[in-house]
Amino acid sequence: MRSLAATAAFALQTPAAETRRDEAIDLRLQRLCALLGIAGARLSSIAADISIVVAAAGADADLAALEARAIAAGRPLVIADAGQYPRFYVGIVLPAHDDRPAQLLSLFDPRPRSAMMATTLAALAGEVLARAAITQQRRQIESQSRAIADYAALEEHRRNLFDRASATARIGIWQCNLSDSSLIWTNGVYDLFEIPRNTPVTREMTLALYTEKSRLEMEAARARAIATCTDFALNCEIITTSGKRRWMRLTGAVESRDGLAHRIFGMKQDITEEKLLADRTRYLAEFDVMTGLANRSLFQARLAALDEGRGNIDALLLVDLDGFKQVNDTYGHALGDECLKEAALRLLESCSGAELVARIGGDEFAVLLNDAGSPDDVEHLAETIVRVMRRPVTRLGQTLSLGASVGVAHYRGGSSEQLFRHADIALYAAKAAGRATSRTFAA
Ligand code: GH3
Ligand code: MG
Repeated sequence: MRSLAATAAFALQTPAAETRRDEAIDLRLQRLCALLGIAGARLSSIAADISIVVAAAGADADLAALEARAIAAGRPLVIADAGQYPRFYVGIVLPAHDDRPAQLLSLFDPRPRSAMMATTLAALAGEVLARAAITQQRRQIESQSRAIADYAALEEHRRNLFDRASATARIGIWQCNLSDSSLIWTNGVYDLFEIPRNTPVTREMTLALYTEKSRLEMEAARARAIATCTDFALNCEIITTSGKRRWMRLTGAVESRDGLAHRIFGMKQDITEEKLLADRTRYLAEFDVMTGLANRSLFQARLAALDEGRGNIDALLLVDLDGFKQVNDTYGHALGDECLKEAALRLLESCSGAELVARIGGDEFAVLLNDAGSPDDVEHLAETIVRVMRRPVTRLGQTLSLGASVGVAHYRGGSSEQLFRHADIALYAAKAAGRATSRTFAA
């Protein structure tokens, strides 16, 4: 029992010999008392000459065996040593924590005692050990709390990272408990709606920030998803608390229990910029920047739709400015542009009920009519266009006369190409008839 003997070297000392304890042992005892949270007096109340020794545990098989016995017994052990004096020995293990190795706490009584006295001392020692165990437990809890605090700090760090990433992507995560409609948002969602972070939010508050159209669309998609326990995604327009209009990509996934929806969660992403860019790109693809009218491509798409049986067209009017080359030559290209803008405005004014008004070439426009009324009504419209276009234009400080010819074709079935050709023939006829007039294609 090497280690027990080594431990006994500290412990098997008579009171007279105590003065000879070296300082290291005293220091150890003091440290241990501090560790146990008990005053030295408390120790002496057990027995003046009981020593408490802390020995490093672990490597030593005997200490481990003692520990195992103490643990198995569940109480302080009284060990009748075969040595010079009967004594009791109690061992508990203070487990390793932080960078301190595991330690075995031992109480030694170097004096011969009666069995009863030994039992009493064992009981008192048990109290000391219980206190030691509590202290130890408290230390462990403190250490765990520190770990928890470290974990919390790590979590905080992760959350910050997540928030930064979310802010960059302008994403927020939301969750709605369906039983009480309670909401949980990450910062990204608060930021999206411009609601101060951590404000308690309700569904009603949020719904009030959707535009009417988006709110109806969202409610419908959400209700469908809840009914079928599926996912949904749509773009919604919101008006933030500071009045900014924003577009938001909303996705939601329904979580169900026993086939019943109980929670929805998903993502909200600010897509305002992307939406504006996409809108702009689509606008550029379909509209004429100078006049704001539909461009040739959108016009062709409507004709294609007609060929595919989608959409109705009654008539096509082709409108071409008269002698526009001359306008450019005389007044310059800038004023020519102004004339084109003016012509576009006048066309829109005259054809407010048209299906489409487009600029399909340099000085050439097209009007698609649906529910155009009788052929007379269409001819009347063509004449109105001619009259309106004839009005002098005053722009950039100059006034000049303008004019346009109009070719009309009624749609009587057949291809859109045919319709266009007929309108073009009519336009050619109007030009040939001296311009500033209209003609209708007759088969
Ligand atoms: P017509 O009466 O036969 O139509 O004669 P026109 O001079 O109008 O000749 P045409 O319609 O064949 O030519 C259209 C002219 O429109 C050609 C070009 O100088 C001018 N033009 C085309 N695009 C633009 C534009 O974007 N800006 C300006 N300022 N002029 C344009
Ligand atoms: Mg022309």
